[in-house]
Amino acid sequence: MPRFYFDANATAPPLPSVVEVVAKSLVEGWANPTSIHREGQGARRLLEEARAVIAESLGVPPAEIVFCSSATEALHLLIWGLRISLGNKPAAVFPGEHSACLNPLRDWTTVRWLPDGLEEAATIVQMAANNETGIIYPMPAAANAVRLKDCAQAWGKIPVNLSDCDAAVFSGHKMGGPRGAAVLWMRPTLPWVPLMEGPQERRRRGGTEDLPAILGLAEAVRFLPERVERNGALAPLRDRLEAEILSWSSDYEAIGRDQPRLPNTSALLLRGHTGEAVQISLDLAGFAVSTGSACHSGATEPSHAVTTLGYSHDEARSVIRVSLLPDAREEEVDALLQALKRILKR
Ligand code: PLP
Repeated sequence: MPRFYFDANATAPPLPSVVEVVAKSLVEGWANPTSIHREGQGARRLLEEARAVIAESLGVPPAEIVFCSSATEALHLLIWGLRISLGNKPAAVFPGEHSACLNPLRDWTTVRWLPDGLEEAATIVQMAANNETGIIYPMPAAANAVRLKDCAQAWGKIPVNLSDCDAAVFSGHKMGGPRGAAVLWMRPTLPWVPLMEGPQERRRRGGTEDLPAILGLAEAVRFLPERVERNGALAPLRDRLEAEILSWSSDYEAIGRDQPRLPNTSALLLRGHTGEAVQISLDLAGFAVSTGSACHSGATEPSHAVTTLGYSHDEARSVIRVSLLPDAREEEVDALLQALKRILKR
């Protein structure tokens, strides 16, 4: 049976040239970039070249980039590292943030949910785009607060702007790069202390860098402008998918349809059905979709990204997320529509 993959927001496959670069580096670039011998220095040169490529693409100085293994790690390092100086002052946080961002904020003394708490906030946390609904959010204006932005979903789907924030995180495996490489960017003025001790990454993140993954990430970054363009061109296909599904029942809704959204993402609220049951039926029919953040799979809690928008728990449990890969084709979407129509009619 053919398989159809509509879960790009969970993970996208690495680009073919990324696979090549990673494989080559595993064979040839395995040396430790911290070693001072010739092999190590060769690895160091490649590491710094990759850093320069990524920094240029983000429009920041290379020295401000810290390589991490995942956006989850980058968010924990960032937030925990700011806690000593900022943790006992109020933070204003977007309530639909990913758990990778909310969890390290647990120990902060006061967390207010945006748009509340802006006036007195010393820290503002606002994701660029939500993983489940695709809704794109502006960074709230704040005169004196440190502003943190999670760009894990936005990267490669829409242009990313760092002029309105002081730190941001990026994940490799959602934009054609490999797993195991992510970026933490911070302005050097941030009152941040490192937590993972070690000489690597200018003492900001200890641990031998995963050079093959980082080189793969730099390779994927070379294709970013093209990827953003291709993702942008998906909006009419996504809109057609939604228009068709909405025509089947007035109980169905596309969440955030009237707001700026990632062009590849559709959070479909199918009242009268359980998202999980629809997802399983689609999987059996050959289609991979999700019922929310992949990181929450297995949990029975309804998605907070959806309830935050004012939907009930039952409604949140009726959502499936379809997220298209940049090369999604009309025929694939038609096949999904046919299968979904059959399943919803049962
Ligand atoms: N932030 C957002 C918005 C995400 O969607 C995800 C993953 O789904 C993460 C952070 C965590 O990314 P990673 O898988 O690189 O840890």
